[in-house]
Amino acid sequence: MVQQSEIFICQQCGYCCQGETTVSLDGSDQQGMIEHLGMSRAEVAKKYWRQTGNTIQMITVEGHCIFYDNGCTIHAGKPWRCTQWPLHPSILTDENNLKAIKESCPGINREISYEDFCNKLAELLEQTDK
Ligand code: SF4
Ligand code: SF4
Repeated sequence: MVQQSEIFICQQCGYCCQGETTVSLDGSDQQGMIEHLGMSRAEVAKKYWRQTGNTIQMITVEGHCIFYDNGCTIHAGKPWRCTQWPLHPSILTDENNLKAIKESCPGINREISYEDFCNKLAELLEQTDK
């Protein structure tokens, strides 16, 4: 069985949680976060969300996601796009996607070939689907 650590080990650099915007939250992300925090929707929205039109993102504080504090502090309640990072399925269809992710994420194994990386990633994604 493939271990995630064969292709990725998080270096806790925080890069993926930095920036002036965050991933957007779909309906299920919003509900999951509300339940995880045990607060009302209005409270969560006021404290943690930024709404622009129909798009809801997390508030940023000093250039990082409000939930970032030397790592993600809302693991179980984080949006699905955060859970996909950096082992995104799009890597399997285009090597350029892996190259782009490598530029942002120092945790990606740079020692193995693209083909080996994809084989391991495909197996990992299959394991998580089960
Ligand atoms: S950019 Fe990569 S190594 Fe850095 S915290 Fe995010 S997942 Fe971990
Ligand atoms: S929810 Fe967690 S993983 Fe996602 S951007 Fe915020 S701190 Fe990072």
